[in-house]
Amino acid sequence: MAQDVAPIASPGTESPLPAAIETHDLTKRFGARRAVDSLSIRVPRGVIAGLVGPNGAGKTTTLRMLLGLIRPSGGNASVLGQSIRHPRTFMHSVGALIEGPAFYPTLSGGTNLSTLATLGRHRDADISGLLQTVGLADRARHKVGSYSLGMKQRLGIAAALLSNPELLLLDEPANGLDPPGIIEMRELMRRLRDGGTTLLVSSHLLAEVDQIADWLIVLVAGRAVYSGPAASLPGRQSTEILVATEAPEQLEIVARIARDRGYAVVIENGRARVAAPPAFAGELNRLAMQAGATLIELHQLQTTLEESFLQIIGEAT
Ligand code: ATP
Repeated sequence: MAQDVAPIASPGTESPLPAAIETHDLTKRFGARRAVDSLSIRVPRGVIAGLVGPNGAGKTTTLRMLLGLIRPSGGNASVLGQSIRHPRTFMHSVGALIEGPAFYPTLSGGTNLSTLATLGRHRDADISGLLQTVGLADRARHKVGSYSLGMKQRLGIAAALLSNPELLLLDEPANGLDPPGIIEMRELMRRLRDGGTTLLVSSHLLAEVDQIADWLIVLVAGRAVYSGPAASLPGRQSTEILVATEAPEQLEIVARIARDRGYAVVIENGRARVAAPPAFAGELNRLAMQAGATLIELHQLQTTLEESFLQIIGEAT
């Protein structure tokens, strides 16, 4: 089911830019367990890509391999056009927030950042600009110990941005955040994307990532069951019309009308489920009446994204 797209051409040049991330049969085994299993995916530049899958699907293991923190057991991958076998060639252009960020709680957010900038030799880092970007400018002088979880996460992202990276890898950045914190995190990610940063963001909640992702990779048991534009995720637009008739035998009339127009119909539990777009409901009502069937129920069912996700996961296991 994995999809692929042509490399994105950089404006005004002949040669296409390499993808931000590309993997070929990337595999990681822990003993007999394949945490990541022949993963072949691609993340174009300039997108927010969601890496989604249930717990244990292999998201963190994938991110750790891409960062050169653990070595693959097989296959290969490139980050910003450089092989992950040589992390030094791309690490200066990549920022990451993999585990919860560690800060000195008794120092202010600003002092924590400038300390990290000194330790990481990011001499040109614009600390106040970064605090502004992550929405912490007015709390920069306050101790990190007084920050909410969301503020600490955003300070973690500021720390990951110290090197002014082209690519940012975030492992479950919304974990543990309250709704306002989640909204702030989404806004921050959009701002970074709009500023030209490519983001790969993991989550076990498709609905959460779907709010911001341009690109989706769905992992199940270490394998990609979908990789492509978020808008093309199968099942996203699926709708059904549910119909009940005054007399149960009239359901056959409804079914015939819908099938004549090319829509699949299943009759179950005294109702007809018609796989048709919402716009067909009015026409179906009119035609059923003309054919002598009285509808006592007619409503549209929209498959939710979570249902599509569960269906994709179910088909893959
Ligand atoms: P979660 O959302 O729960 O963090 P995940 O999708 O990030 O899940 P991973 O943490 O990558 O999944 O784990 C994938 C599988 O690999 C799991 O079965 C996990 O137990 C196993 N695994 C991960 N790291 C190790 C390790 N260092 N040693 C042994 N097994 C590991």
